[in-house]
Amino acid sequence: MNNLLQEVENSKAEINNFSTTDKNPAEVFRIQFLGSKGLIKSLMGEMKNVPAENRREMGQVLNDLKLFAENKYEELKKTSDNGQETTGSEVDLSLPGEALPLGSRHPISIVRNKIISIFQRLGFAVAEGPEIEDDWHNFTALNLPENHPARDMQDTFYVSQNPDWMLRTHTSSVQVREMKKGKLPIRIICPGRVYRNETISARAHCFFHQVEGLYIASDVSFADLKQTLYFFVQEMFGNTIKVRFRPSYFPFTEPSAEMDITCLICGGTGCNVCKHTGWVEILGCGMVHPKVLENCGIDSNKYSGFAFGMGIERITMLKYQIKDLRLFSENDLRFLKQFTSAV
Ligand SMILES: [Zn+2]
Repeated sequence: MNNLLQEVENSKAEINNFSTTDKNPAEVFRIQFLGSKGLIKSLMGEMKNVPAENRREMGQVLNDLKLFAENKYEELKKTSDNGQETTGSEVDLSLPGEALPLGSRHPISIVRNKIISIFQRLGFAVAEGPEIEDDWHNFTALNLPENHPARDMQDTFYVSQNPDWMLRTHTSSVQVREMKKGKLPIRIICPGRVYRNETISARAHCFFHQVEGLYIASDVSFADLKQTLYFFVQEMFGNTIKVRFRPSYFPFTEPSAEMDITCLICGGTGCNVCKHTGWVEILGCGMVHPKVLENCGIDSNKYSGFAFGMGIERITMLKYQIKDLRLFSENDLRFLKQFTSAV
């Protein structure tokens, strides 16, 4: 037993004087003294050789030693934790940070948001509707009955389960839905994706985006239409842009017009983009056909209104001088990254 007491004393001294050059002294200490093959465990193993009458006393001594070692271990853990904090010298805070790549809005979204904000300032609310439409909302209600030749220009994709369902060819169907609600006056713009069965090329795609506008109240005239669109063009392209209206035909408006603006590329002197006319077409418009009003349950003797529609791709191509429509849907980062600073 005296041998064992001597060993305990030696161990205590060893614990007290413990030192190591290892990076993690607490762990080295734990393995050496407190681990399953450590010194304390082996001293405990000696207990079986201690005479029965001394066991109680010896047990106490060994427990004290264990406690002593555990305190030392906690102490070492604390200093090595602090040590880790102070060894921050390995991190060079003066180095420049790693830059996060900056995302960008899609050019179509940029122009769409800009168009919406201009019309919102005139009191237009945004209205949206389903992209899968039925024949009545997309064609018939808009004065495009079956076999109407203008339907040929808007061939689309039909849903095979129900031949009456199709992907909408314009957002005018949203206008129909709003008119059917019967809450007048109506002052809305309808941005959204539309579809046509077209061969994909630099100038045409099977889907594109439109913004259409509709204003219905009593005594709405063509002058209101012109003033609204003048305002839009000046806000969108600047004060120096000139506007002209050309008579046109749409089944859902009467009279109808197409609106041109000064070519943004050549400033009106003539170039390839404007086919040397100095003008580019940006939208179609007109007074809502009385038949369309009646189809949607609005009294055409009491109310009148105007409507207009434009392709967002076309406006975007003019604004940013983009030559190929396909770039918008190819997800080529080299193209999209050019709009990082645009808002
Ligand atoms: Zn031009």
